[in-house]
Amino acid sequence: MSNCIFCRIIGGEIPAKKVYEDEEILAFDDMNPQAPVHILVIPKKHIRNMMEVDTGDTGLLGRLFFKAQEIAQSSGCAEKGARFVVNCKSNGGQTVDHLHCHVLGGRFMTWPPG
Ligand code: AMP
Ligand code: ZN
Repeated sequence: MSNCIFCRIIGGEIPAKKVYEDEEILAFDDMNPQAPVHILVIPKKHIRNMMEVDTGDTGLLGRLFFKAQEIAQSSGCAEKGARFVVNCKSNGGQTVDHLHCHVLGGRFMTWPPG
């Protein structure tokens, strides 16, 4: 997906501060952090959003969320917790059409969301 920002980060065309990488998952700092910890965890496979997850993607998503947990722990969020957010399409506030899990931590998060 050459016009996808996150695919271009995966491909090395756009720089990002990488936090973790393996064959199927990449994590990097959000460029516009909303909390002291704000990391995006993404599958390298271009899945547009939660509505387009396929039955064949369930293992990948399980590993992605487990990796998000590990990243939150290694970022100092284990004790007080964090927020794991997946925005979806326009009503969900998604702005980049490549599935991603926000890991937000380091401060108290209010509820409900805006
Ligand atoms: P969402 O609104 O859930 O789609 O989140 C997209 C997130 O991607 C936002 O928090 C942006 O700040 C972040 N973002 C967009 N472009 C980049 C980039 N090139 N590097 C890092 N984060 C980015
Ligand atoms: Zn993509």
